[in-house]
Amino acid sequence: MSPIIPVLEPDCQVKSWKILLKQAISDPHHLLSSLGLGSHPLAEQVVTQSNFRMRVPQPFIDKMGYGDPNDPLLLQVLPVNQEAQVVEGFSQDPLAEFSDEADKQPGILHKYQGRILVLLAQACAVNCRYCFRRHFPYHDHAAKSDQLEQIYDYLTRNDEISEVILSGGDPLIVSDHYFQGFVNRIESIPNIKRLRIHTRLPVVIPQRITERLCQILAQSRLSTSMVLHINHANEIDQLLSSYIKKLRSSGVTMFNQAVLLAGVNDSLAALSDLFEKGFEAGIIPYYLHFLDPVEGAAHFRVDKTTALSLVKELRNNLPGYLVPRLAQEIAGEKSKTVLA
Ligand SMILES: *Cc1c(COP(=O)(O)O)cnc(C)c1O
Ligand code: SF4
Repeated sequence: MSPIIPVLEPDCQVKSWKILLKQAISDPHHLLSSLGLGSHPLAEQVVTQSNFRMRVPQPFIDKMGYGDPNDPLLLQVLPVNQEAQVVEGFSQDPLAEFSDEADKQPGILHKYQGRILVLLAQACAVNCRYCFRRHFPYHDHAAKSDQLEQIYDYLTRNDEISEVILSGGDPLIVSDHYFQGFVNRIESIPNIKRLRIHTRLPVVIPQRITERLCQILAQSRLSTSMVLHINHANEIDQLLSSYIKKLRSSGVTMFNQAVLLAGVNDSLAALSDLFEKGFEAGIIPYYLHFLDPVEGAAHFRVDKTTALSLVKELRNNLPGYLVPRLAQEIAGEKSKTVLA
């Protein structure tokens, strides 16, 4: 028995996802050498110290190509020199979330009618370099367990809210026990009809989809959906597909949101593959996000003309239900802005 294995619930799947999470790789040299890359042309001075460190779990690394410095999964997680560039229009808080008055209460973002984001967790299993919340002060904003009562109270008082969207951080980073407590509590609020989980965790650690999680979702009176975050077809493998099947047989509707990223998925071929392969795995494309202008991510930018023409080409090539909405979040708007 390895001494690092903590005593957990008697469910070996729970053990394994927590261990995979704990053992996520945070040293870029280690990642590169495990892929047979001694160095990387975009990361000569590899950044190991930063407030947004590299973090990537092994199951995601297993989906990267060996020896390929341009691997589309690697590029999403490797800190590169270009992050230090100062680019006009790219800021720390592009969506004005830090001090948004919509953030009426810690742990929630209530910007859109009928739906509320609950920031259940402070961290993610993976640190995506383009993340619009890469500078987000989760310490001040994620719901601490003693603030949950205030959140339940808010949901009860604002009875036009019918959907709770769990976001983060990554909401599935919490234990099944904690998750169940939350779900059971919101089930007791009559106006709440739907539960949506925005998560990337199953993509980077498919073992997160435990039997218990499936049971909680299957038994809930709420209509449940999960919005995964997959940007490239190579992220969808047999392992992930098998867990998605379990979620679907537990009555969960599966969607995907992707971010349009230069060098990762900004071609007709890459996007078509993503949406077709996703559908084979049981996932309906929901949003394709236009990159939010967050500091450190400017090298992922695709200009709007290119984005619009890509979506037009997709429409000519795929059935309508496989073409997501190209969307942008504009601070202060009442919904996401659909560009195409
Ligand atoms: C994206 C988002 C939602 C969900 O919007 P949908 O269009 O329903 O997917 C809700 N609240 C906030 C603050 C959001 O950013
Ligand atoms: S999983 Fe989502 S919230 Fe977390 S770092 Fe990646 S993009 Fe950001």
